[in-house]
Amino acid sequence: MRAKNIGIDLGTANTIVYAEGKGIVLSEPSVVAKNTKTGEIVSVGSEARDMIGRTPASIVAIRPMKNGVIADYDTTVAMMKYYIQKALGGKGSKPYVMVCVPSGVTEVEKRAVIDATRVAGARDAYVIEEPFASAIGAGLPVMDPTGSMVVDIGGGTTDVATISLGGIVSSRSISMAGDKLDECIIYYVRQNYNLLIGERTAEQLKIDVASASTTLAKELDSQTIRGRDLVTGLPKTIEIPAEAVAEAIQEVVDEIITAIKETLEETSPEIAADVIDHGIVLTGGGAQLRHLPEVISDATKVPVFVASDPLDCVAIGTGESLKSIDVMKKK
Ligand code: ADP
Ligand code: MG
Repeated sequence: MRAKNIGIDLGTANTIVYAEGKGIVLSEPSVVAKNTKTGEIVSVGSEARDMIGRTPASIVAIRPMKNGVIADYDTTVAMMKYYIQKALGGKGSKPYVMVCVPSGVTEVEKRAVIDATRVAGARDAYVIEEPFASAIGAGLPVMDPTGSMVVDIGGGTTDVATISLGGIVSSRSISMAGDKLDECIIYYVRQNYNLLIGERTAEQLKIDVASASTTLAKELDSQTIRGRDLVTGLPKTIEIPAEAVAEAIQEVVDEIITAIKETLEETSPEIAADVIDHGIVLTGGGAQLRHLPEVISDATKVPVFVASDPLDCVAIGTGESLKSIDVMKKK
C-alpha cells in the first residue's frame, strides 16, 4: 500500500501532522522527555510536557525547537520519527513529507529540517514557508493578484507577512510570542508579589485571563495562582487581578504591533489598500489572546480577524500544499 503523503507543522510549541486525504491526524506539544543517564526517550508529546518543571534528576523534558528552528537535532529527529509513525499507524511505505519553516531562515537551517525529516523516516522531504502555509490554511486568496496580510503568533516567534500572487511580498519575524508572554508573567509576579511561578502556571494564567488591553482587562475576573514565596521559601497562593496580567505582557503586545506597522509601511500602496479591504488575519495559538484584534485594529486602523482554528492553519496549509509535491517530484 502506498503511504499517505503527510504535512508537518513543526512548531516551537506544538507539532501538528496532516495526512493526505484525512486532514489533521495528530496534534501534540513539541516536547520530548529523555533519561539523562541512558539517553533513552521516556515520552513524547503531552505526556512529556506534563513533566516540565516536575522531572527528577534522571529525566529532562526538552523542547527541541527554538524560535521555529531546530535547536536540538537528535531530539527533533526522535520526535518526528515518533509522530510520523504514529500518524501513519505503521502502515504502508515511506511517505513524502512537506514541512513548514519560518520565512527568513538560513539555507543551513532549512537543510537541517530536510535532513531531520529524511532521517525520521520520510522518503523525501520538502519545505514550505510558514506564513504562506498559514495564509493558505486561513483561507486567504494567496494565488490571486491581491495583497493579504497574515500574522502568525506561535510559541517562539511572531511572523508577519504580506502575500500576493503566490509569493511572500514582505515579511518580518520577531522573537516575541507565546513563550515571551509567559516569561513576562513570571517576571512580573516575581517582582510584584515575591512569588516564583513555573512556566506551566504562567501559561495557564495567560490562557485564563491575559488580555492585550489593560483597559479592557478591567472587566475580567482576578485569578488565583500558586507558587513559591521567595521570602519564606514556602508554597503560597495569591489572587492576581486580570489588569496586572495585562500590564505584565504589555511590552510584548506593543512589539507585535510595531512589527505589523513596520511591515505595512514597507508594502506598496496597492497591497496596503488590499489589506485595508480584506483586513489582517491572525493565526497561531497566540492569536487567541483576549482583545488582541481590537488592540491591533486600533493601532493600525485596519480591520483584524482571528482565523477559524488558528492553531491548525499552518498544518492545514502545509497539507494543502502536498498537492504540489507531485509537481516537485517531477523536477
Ligand atoms: P508554534 O507554531 O510555535 O508551535 P502555536 O501556534 O502552536 O505555536 O501556539 C502556541 C502558543 O499559543 C503557546 O505559547 C500557547 O501558550 C499559546 N496559546 C494557546 N492558547 C492560547 C490562548 N487561549 N491565549 C493565548 N495564548 C494561547
Ligand atoms: Mg506555528
